[in-house]
Amino acid sequence: MNDIKALTFDLDNTLWETDFSILNAEAIMRQHLEELAPAAWMADFSLEAFRAVRADVVAEHPDMAHNLSMVRRSTLTRWFRDQGASSMEAEELAGEGFRVFYHARQQVEPYPMAVETIEALAGRFPIGAITNGNADLLAMPIGRHFQFSYKAEDFPAPKPHPVMFEAALEALGIAAHQCLHVGDDVEHDIDGALAAGMRTAWVNTRGLPTESGRHADLILSDVSELLKHL
Ligand SMILES: [Mg+2]
Repeated sequence: MNDIKALTFDLDNTLWETDFSILNAEAIMRQHLEELAPAAWMADFSLEAFRAVRADVVAEHPDMAHNLSMVRRSTLTRWFRDQGASSMEAEELAGEGFRVFYHARQQVEPYPMAVETIEALAGRFPIGAITNGNADLLAMPIGRHFQFSYKAEDFPAPKPHPVMFEAALEALGIAAHQCLHVGDDVEHDIDGALAAGMRTAWVNTRGLPTESGRHADLILSDVSELLKHL
């Protein structure tokens, strides 16, 4: 790892656990929409019902699938249209629902030692983020240690496609083999970064069989273990 000159990090389930913040944000969104919309339009709304409409939206617009923000807004718009809302009413409610969801979704609790680790590494390396999700990293306290945060929704394709990795290498001004990408998802993070020519650290935060990520350069149980190798 001596020739590593910069690092890129995945965010969700690498620096923090994501499922809880998403579920919490879904609940807050629903509560907010119940206050705004006529009761009849929300009577059948549930996580399962929302997901069913979302599956239809994604099936009809596969090119939109990696833009989680757009998918959520479109799903909410369709939900209210299906309930009989005008398109203006539906879009307004969808915008409100998305706004509170997005805000609540940013309330994440970094894993123990994640902040200290990023702080320590940022003193020695330029650091960037590459996420398929819609975490607003640069608005979080930990974000000040990052030079950039690339979200799939702003690119033509999500990880494992090389486009975001290549953009990161260009921003960092280094060769692919000088960059270590750190992430929890074997397909998106490890396979994607390897295909882009980068070095990889698989953070097995979910306790998967190590077999699945054995082709990573490093296998870690949490990001603090990076400090032993760099
Ligand atoms: Mg992840």
